[in-house]
Amino acid sequence: MSYVKKTCPICGKEFFVLKKAEKKATYCTLACLIKAQSKVEYRGMTFPSLG
Ligand SMILES: [Zn+2]
Repeated sequence: MSYVKKTCPICGKEFFVLKKAEKKATYCTLACLIKAQSKVEYRGMTFPSLG
């Protein structure tokens, strides 16, 4: 099985994911995923037109 190195857009940490899971795995941890989602919601409220 091959692994792909990715960089978490939230904390900047490098991590490895299975190549077949690459598209699903954007963040290094669930905590970063939650942060990313709350950021999107926050932006959505601040700049509704950029949605
Ligand atoms: Zn992270």
